[in-house]
Amino acid sequence: MGTAVLDIHSFLLALGVGNIAFAVLMAGYMHGAAPSPGLRLWMWARFGMGVCQLLGWCRPYLDIPMLNGLEGAGWVLAVSLEVAAYCIFFGFEHWRRVLLPVSALALAIVLAAGSAGAPVAYLTALVAAVVALLAAAMAWILLRPRRRASLLQRIIGISDAVFAASVALWAASCLSSDLPLGQRAVQEFAYLAGYLLMIVNGFGFLLLCKEKDDAEMARLATVDSLTGLPNRHAFLERAEHARQAALRLRQPLALAMMDIDHFKQINDRFGHATGDEALMVFARTARETLRGHETVGRLGGEEFAMVLPGADLGGALAAAERLRHAVREAVVITSGGNYTMTVSIGVVVLDPNETLGVALARADHALYAAKSGGRDRVEAGQPQQRRA
Ligand code: GH3
Ligand code: MG
Ligand code: MG
Repeated sequence: MGTAVLDIHSFLLALGVGNIAFAVLMAGYMHGAAPSPGLRLWMWARFGMGVCQLLGWCRPYLDIPMLNGLEGAGWVLAVSLEVAAYCIFFGFEHWRRVLLPVSALALAIVLAAGSAGAPVAYLTALVAAVVALLAAAMAWILLRPRRRASLLQRIIGISDAVFAASVALWAASCLSSDLPLGQRAVQEFAYLAGYLLMIVNGFGFLLLCKEKDDAEMARLATVDSLTGLPNRHAFLERAEHARQAALRLRQPLALAMMDIDHFKQINDRFGHATGDEALMVFARTARETLRGHETVGRLGGEEFAMVLPGADLGGALAAAERLRHAVREAVVITSGGNYTMTVSIGVVVLDPNETLGVALARADHALYAAKSGGRDRVEAGQPQQRRA
């Protein structure tokens, strides 16, 4: 028997209050807002764990025969709910098929063992083994190989793994008294791991929700919702990065402005929805035509732009011609049959130290020349000095 470090009875009370406090916090967070998926289950999981811990704390004062079985079943249910919350949060599709039968079977066994009056040590070992298995599943969800997990997800995963290991050890210690560490030390380790789980998973899940919401907000702020291309702001930012990189590496950088020809006609003849469809077809065509390091963005309406790092004027004109031909080939399905569009393009190569704004104005000027030259054509911009 090792020396007692923790007052486990009081510790249970603190854990129970802590978990219920997290559940209440989450309920407040969800109130009136559109919650992330899985949040509600996570809240009930925390609440369930807190109740089980408070039941454990009450046990010496209560004399209810089924209490051990009920508390064990509560643990299985609460940890299953937390695993379900993770599965939903990370978008697993078939989690119900695995988790529901496993949890239902575990619940039935624990309740049957409890009502049959199984010795406390066996019942505890059984519940601890199931909880360890479920916690290991949570750790696997977060730490599994080949998954690009954030540091936050890894930290939570490690906390789950520590908890799973400590509870598995506890299960073993209930069945065999000659473990090297001693039963008391193993139990204290499991309670400390439970504390770690409460804190890390408690704040961690909230931060995971925030991490996901932030990523979605960033996506919404930078992506044009109709075409999926970078929006004006995001495109200009990328173009500016490309300009600075080109300057540093002393490489050429080309820029092009594009405007779909007679676009108003598409709207007028076939309706706004077909106009939208045409914009999507254009965006897909541009994306497919460009190379990996080249970027196309939607500046607004039916105006697009692209940035071509490393391209000199000859290369940029060739890329623009490739796109112009691809757009002519692309088909927009309308109520009046297949429709094909054309595009006018103005291309410039940035002068060293020329600002993006000046280069875009030159490209716009070239685009205007392409329009007035008859449309469906590519024009090169005038060098900066000659226009001045
Ligand atoms: P040009 O050849 O000179 O470029 O003629 P155009 O008809 O393409 O030029 P204009 O700029 O006059 O018309 C652009 C039209 O694009 C006007 C506007 O109603 C339409 N438009 C702008 N944004 C959208 C959009 O998101 N969806 C749809 N369907 N139409 C849009
Ligand atoms: Mg226009
Ligand atoms: Mg147009």
